Amino acid sequence: MRRAESVTFGGSGLDRAAHLRGDAGALADLRRATGARVLPLWRGKPALVPADGGETLGWVSADAQVLEAAELTAFLGLDDGGPRFAADVSAWAPPDLPDTLDSFTDRTEQRHPEQPEGHRFVELRAAMTRLDARAAELAATAKALFDWHRIHGFCARCGVASTVAMGGWQRDCPACGAHHFPRTDPVVIMLVTQGNDLLIGRSPHWPEGMYSLLAGFVEPGETMEAAVRREVWEEAGVRVGRVDYLASQPWPFPASLMMGCHGHATSREIVLDPVELEHALWVGREEAMAIAAGDHPRINPARKGAIAQFLIHNWLADTLD
Ligand SMILES: [Zn+2]
Repeated sequence: MRRAESVTFGGSGLDRAAHLRGDAGALADLRRATGARVLPLWRGKPALVPADGGETLGWVSADAQVLEAAELTAFLGLDDGGPRFAADVSAWAPPDLPDTLDSFTDRTEQRHPEQPEGHRFVELRAAMTRLDARAAELAATAKALFDWHRIHGFCARCGVASTVAMGGWQRDCPACGAHHFPRTDPVVIMLVTQGNDLLIGRSPHWPEGMYSLLAGFVEPGETMEAAVRREVWEEAGVRVGRVDYLASQPWPFPASLMMGCHGHATSREIVLDPVELEHALWVGREEAMAIAAGDHPRINPARKGAIAQFLIHNWLADTLD
């Protein structure tokens, strides 16, 4: 698909400069460099600041007060030559924090007293479409890395506490010597069509009225194509024949790589798995157009910025090639 990388969180050509990760001295020098900038993240929420009608990343210098609470710093790469780091300041406890924050719908913003004017921590899903491609890639990378560190503090082989290495891109076990690397979990998400009809569905826990494409994790020992056919069969009872790859999207909620595919259905009858899906249906192009435009009386579109919305938009515009 020619437009594949124009999806939200699509590749921005960031120079990750991975060859520098193992050189602690070089990384320390980069952090002290004049152009160095650090992106604070608080409990998975990047610091953002309004810019040009949208948002941009709330960078601070390496000696900024807000970083005093940082437990972990990671090297993100070089942005036009400028060293970029991220720091996890989750230990900071803001006053008046809500008891529970549902990241799916969180619209709250937290502001650290030492952050520059206008900077605050914002749920990435709420802001992702207001960031440019480079900012989105940097924020997604930092969020995915820190989410991984948060739940991988102990060696998966022997259980001993592991230590951060390689500029935040690895954890090493001091007891058994194992190296652990940040996980990315493959998920297939499929535009299942038959002629001019599209299969959409909704999960029980989604916002009211929201429908999207079917999706599911790829299992060990399975190809992407087989995962598409299995998931559609399990969730909706529909058989899929030919499967074509379309586009992918890093989805750091918390650690997925969404692999968008086009599945050509060979059967039509829907038999729901009620655990996975609350409802599924076939919609024609005109109805899909109305849903995408927000003009449907009962069905709300997939989340803006999600690859489902991107694939449906390109199917409707006949730009899947
Ligand atoms: Zn170990």
